[in-house]
Amino acid sequence: MQITEIQVDGYEKVVRCHDEESGLHALIAVHNTTLGPALGGMRMLPYVSEDEALFDVLRLSRGMTFKSAVAETGLGGGKSVIIGDPKELKSEALFLAMGRFVESLGGKYITAEDMNIGIEDLEVVKRETRWVTGLSRDSGSSGNPSPYTARGCFQGMRAVVEHAGLGTLKGTRVLLQGIGAVGGRLAVLLKEAGAHVTICDINEERASEMSREHGFDVVPDEGHAALECDIYAPCARGAGINDDTIPALRCKAVAGCANNQLLEPRHADELRSRGILYAPDYVLNAGGIINVSVELLPGGYEEVEALRRIDRIYDNLKLLFEISENENISTREAAQRLAESRLEEAGS
Ligand code: NAD
Repeated sequence: MQITEIQVDGYEKVVRCHDEESGLHALIAVHNTTLGPALGGMRMLPYVSEDEALFDVLRLSRGMTFKSAVAETGLGGGKSVIIGDPKELKSEALFLAMGRFVESLGGKYITAEDMNIGIEDLEVVKRETRWVTGLSRDSGSSGNPSPYTARGCFQGMRAVVEHAGLGTLKGTRVLLQGIGAVGGRLAVLLKEAGAHVTICDINEERASEMSREHGFDVVPDEGHAALECDIYAPCARGAGINDDTIPALRCKAVAGCANNQLLEPRHADELRSRGILYAPDYVLNAGGIINVSVELLPGGYEEVEALRRIDRIYDNLKLLFEISENENISTREAAQRLAESRLEEAGS
């Protein structure tokens, strides 16, 4: 196994691993550990080149630093990527080699699930390193993060309705796209709180099933963003807030769990100029990482403690909305400044 370092400005450590025997070609990026060890998922994709994989791992690890700084997880930002087609390359030898690669950083990087990596893969990684989180609850780990992500979004949406002058969630009209692991649970929580929930999903069968079970209204996914509502909650995929969709929006706020909702940073300003309140995605959807971070506390995972910390997403959003108003900047910019100030405080 050959591990080599790649020098990248602004990153604490970026390493590449080649293991001929198992076919492992992977990268780990540790962006910043000022606030604690760098936690971030492991993903596996058939990147066309190492440069493409490097671009992804750098972008994602940096994002994790900001996400954890705002969520106050006591962690830094990192990420790992395995280059290759998961259908062809996955093997026990590959994940054992990946475990040795993670172990080589001595706990500076802690891994978790991400795209195309499941708990069964991480169980193999764990045989070579203890720096693995998010395994099953039976093994003392924090388990599936999705319900916790949904809980955090729900708490954040309470802050959104208050700030948008809508009072409480009771009677608030929410349009939610993507009724999956997080969106499905979030929709149920909103309904239980008295919100009027309308859903859409590319998987129409799933949307109808959820509607029958929980009494949600359903609209076709095509053109859904133009439906009048109080909160538009993108919970499916990224880049849905862009030059094409923004002029069509008829909502007072955008708040959902999907990652990277804005196609470009400037779209946060565009929403603001139209009087639409935006809850920055990585602040609202931090429940999963907060849940995982509790595993790393000295006493180990405790659900009560995890929920207490997840519920602080409400306070974080309130704080961001205040910064945004006082400083006359977008909520996205406010989140960035809050993260930077927490990093500066800890580093000085
Ligand atoms: P999921 O795969 O369980 O659900 C996604 C849902 O969106 C599915 O029902 C799917 O049919 C639908 N969908 C996909 N593409 C669509 C499209 N183009 N139009 C309409 N519907 C579409 O995923 P999830 O775990 O619920 O995650 C949803 C989003 O939240 C993702 O952006 C994910 O990155 C983000 N997120 C998830 C977590 C977590 O804990 N799972 C944490 C943070 C962020």
